[in-house]
Amino acid sequence: MSELAEHQPQASADLIDGKAFAARVRGEVATGAADFAAANGRQPGLAVVLVGSDAASQVYVRTKVRQAAEAGISSFPHLLEAGTTQAQLLALIATLNADERVDGILVQLPLPGTLDESAVIEAIDPAKDVDGFHPVNVGRLSAGQPSLVPCTPLGCLLLLQDRLGDLSGLKAVVVGRSNIVGKPMGQLLLNANCTVTTVHSRSRNLVAECRQADILVVAVGRPGMIGPEHIKPGATVLDVGINRVEDRAGQSMLVGDVDFAGASAVAGALTPVPGGIGPMTVACLLRNTLTAARLRTAAQSAQP
Ligand code: NAP
Repeated sequence: MSELAEHQPQASADLIDGKAFAARVRGEVATGAADFAAANGRQPGLAVVLVGSDAASQVYVRTKVRQAAEAGISSFPHLLEAGTTQAQLLALIATLNADERVDGILVQLPLPGTLDESAVIEAIDPAKDVDGFHPVNVGRLSAGQPSLVPCTPLGCLLLLQDRLGDLSGLKAVVVGRSNIVGKPMGQLLLNANCTVTTVHSRSRNLVAECRQADILVVAVGRPGMIGPEHIKPGATVLDVGINRVEDRAGQSMLVGDVDFAGASAVAGALTPVPGGIGPMTVACLLRNTLTAARLRTAAQSAQP
């Protein structure tokens, strides 16, 4: 293809409807949860722990509890005051670890600055770590072993496989290297046989790196940072970013890390914000809870 032709924009990228796909995933979880309940005499159980009264976190927790109920998963919300001590929180985690009705434990992050996030994550039984943040699950993922996988990158992988099928040999670029999105995303894509590059704030030639990508996953937290110049024509672009900004009329709105209008002229397919990756994250939390419930009961019945 000539240099000029390569720069000709496509008419418009396909919209990847994460909301609709997430509804499908939740439907599959609901079927699996009903089978689990019939076989075990109880629903899969998810404990959700929120410390403090951060408004956005409260909305996330309410959504998780509501969607769990709709999928046939019992939820056990624990809403703790902002002054909760490390010892009190660790004591609650120990109780939830021992509670047979609880298959998954989610501690809503970020925690107030007085609490040690790493110590809290490490206190969760890895078998109940439905966020996939425990070092045991991080290690299993990087070793290519079965594990509970962080929900947002898992949601991205499911969307990519639904659209592209086998990802083997595709060039994937992940923008961002956080523990909750960028790093596990890179690992999942590597495990799916992609050729993976991770770029971050210290990377050189960000545009050139991104333009190599058949799959571009962006998780940075900077509104509209990725424009058409970063995108290889026809690439599949997943926008993980969620940024609250004001529009020209001063109204608050959510935008991603990708300049949606610019990118959709070049990309082959693109997720919107909102309605892209966000709904997949909650759907994958429920999926992980069902997975944890199945694995725990299988492990218990294998015990002599
Ligand atoms: P984070 O922990 O702040 O990490 C941001 C990453 O972006 C870092 O690795 C940083 O590089 C990199 N970065 C910052 N500026 C950059 C630049 N100019 N060029 C290249 N890389 C740059 O954020 P996160 O937790 O991964 O979240 C990222 C975004 O995703 C946020 O908007 C967040 O709200 C959103 N999010 C959405 C969901 C969902 O369900 N859709 C879930 C989680 C997060 P360094 O490491 O070098 O600093």
